[in-house]
Amino acid sequence: MRRLRNVKIVATLGPASSDEPTIRALFEAGADVFRLNMSHGTHDDIRGRHTIIRKIEADTGRPIAILADLQGPKLRVGVFANGSEELVEGAKFRMDLTDAPGNVDRVQLPHPEIFAALEQGASLLVNDGKIRLKVDECGPDFANCTVTVGGTISNRKGVNVPDVVLPLAALSTKDRADLEFACELGVDWLALSFVQRAEDVTEARALARGRAAILSKIEKPAAVKAYAEILAVSDGIMVARGDLGVELPVQAVPPIQKRLVRGARAAAKPVIVATQMLESMIESPVPTRAEVSDVATAIYEGADAVMLSAESAAGQYPVEAVTTMNNVALSVESDPTYRDVIEASRSVVRKTMADGIVSAAREIAETTDIKAICCFSQTGNTVALVARERPRVPILGLTPLIATARRMCLSWGTTCVVTGEQDRFKGAVIAAVRAALKYGFATEKDHIVLTAGVPFNVQGTTNILRIAPCDERLIYKADPE
Ligand code: ATP
Ligand code: MG
Ligand code: MG
Repeated sequence: MRRLRNVKIVATLGPASSDEPTIRALFEAGADVFRLNMSHGTHDDIRGRHTIIRKIEADTGRPIAILADLQGPKLRVGVFANGSEELVEGAKFRMDLTDAPGNVDRVQLPHPEIFAALEQGASLLVNDGKIRLKVDECGPDFANCTVTVGGTISNRKGVNVPDVVLPLAALSTKDRADLEFACELGVDWLALSFVQRAEDVTEARALARGRAAILSKIEKPAAVKAYAEILAVSDGIMVARGDLGVELPVQAVPPIQKRLVRGARAAAKPVIVATQMLESMIESPVPTRAEVSDVATAIYEGADAVMLSAESAAGQYPVEAVTTMNNVALSVESDPTYRDVIEASRSVVRKTMADGIVSAAREIAETTDIKAICCFSQTGNTVALVARERPRVPILGLTPLIATARRMCLSWGTTCVVTGEQDRFKGAVIAAVRAALKYGFATEKDHIVLTAGVPFNVQGTTNILRIAPCDERLIYKADPE
């Protein structure tokens, strides 16, 4: 019934995963968060997937987070008459503004600002840099190129122009419409693509008006530079390695990944490692050793979540890809070295009363045989603080608010449960114990640790730490009122 791992799995939905049986199978295989990419598909497609996820959530009684990924100022080619074409090295290929389906000789690139800024000799990188074109000749509405690295190009693949500085607004007209649509629909997280400055995040936050939490995708060199400021105004982070590895040399990505993951952990904000994690599983039922190692590395680093993109959205083995991530997580997290590595990379600055309480909860988990840390939270902030401690025992996030429970699904080691409103401390203890028993964290012989705030239902009041027996008769005996 509950997941037996700490790291969360984010699965992108797409044409390979749009029907209810497949999405349900992804959830059962281990997907905790579903990503809806606003770059692909229509609002109706997105709405359909959203409805299915909420149905599965209602059927299983387990909160599921939905993350809508806004395209941002991503440059993309148009569509092809045949859906895709094979570009071979040495061939000529043209990009232009003409709104006609592409073929093996040309495709639309609907961004006049690129043509305005392009120069002869510049590189155009397609599909996270897999295909490379060199500009031979260009004008205000075209670029004639030579293919220097070939590959399959298909509908709406992304284009990067690392040699050229483009004036880009953070949120396009499409992004604003998509943001409003996603918030109306009821998503839990909004991912912002190509964030460059903290202001980009505050702008989106103002538009979201609290309806969704804001996750910044770090995929621009400027965002890496301004990471501290961006992190401070974001609710979560995605290490978006696809574009990052095109905008910067690929070998720059692993050290950046480590730094971003650590920074987000220290700030108690969830961080997702994304892109190409099991890329070969788009076409193969088994991953490469290197991919398994990559997923394992992110887990050892203490990332909150690992993500599948095309593997689950457009691949042939979406469920197998989730199962693979789940198995890698189980294997890594049962390695005794995992605890050592997670501990060694813990850097926590504690300032508040809540910091002190969650730190004490972790300490109790280290020194006694308690089975879970149960944490009442309105906003999810205290739960995030407990997750930052990366405790040895599972975290049970208890909240009366379904929106909070869903958002917390992205946090490391956290199982989210919606409980009724609590107004008395003893009622809260009993609710926590019942949840711990129900979800199989503890038996009646065990103890749990509980954090809460009194008075109840006031934000930012975590001020109680309690070790409670899971046997309700003992609770009544110890605490008759
Ligand atoms: P981003 O930069 O936001 O990650 P992306 O184009 O890389 O955008 P992903 O969601 O990472 O998109 O998925 C990788 C690939 O899977 C896409 O390029 C596309 O070919 C395919 N794909 C994903 N989702 C869809 C979808 N809903 N419809 C069609 N194709 C999709
Ligand atoms: Mg990207
Ligand atoms: Mg991608």
